[in-house]
Amino acid sequence: MPKIVVTEDSCKGCKLCLAACPKHLLVVGEKYNAKGVRPVVQVREEECTGCKLCAIMCPDSAISVYR
Ligand code: SF4
Ligand code: SF4
Repeated sequence: MPKIVVTEDSCKGCKLCLAACPKHLLVVGEKYNAKGVRPVVQVREEECTGCKLCAIMCPDSAISVYR
């Protein structure tokens, strides 16, 4: 199963990845990071196709996709 990893302290909360995911698997998390924003987290991990659109869209390279 593909896996994504969000580098929490690199996320600036712009939400571009939320719009990029065709399956709507990314949401704003509950915790705050060192920048004072809440990094995104993935939900319904089993539905991730590993398409990498979230990682490609992220301007801060905060998402890595492993497949
Ligand atoms: S790899 Fe694709 S399906 Fe998985 S979270 Fe990112 S955009 Fe969504
Ligand atoms: S696109 Fe990158 S910086 Fe923006 S919310 Fe998503 S993970 Fe965070």
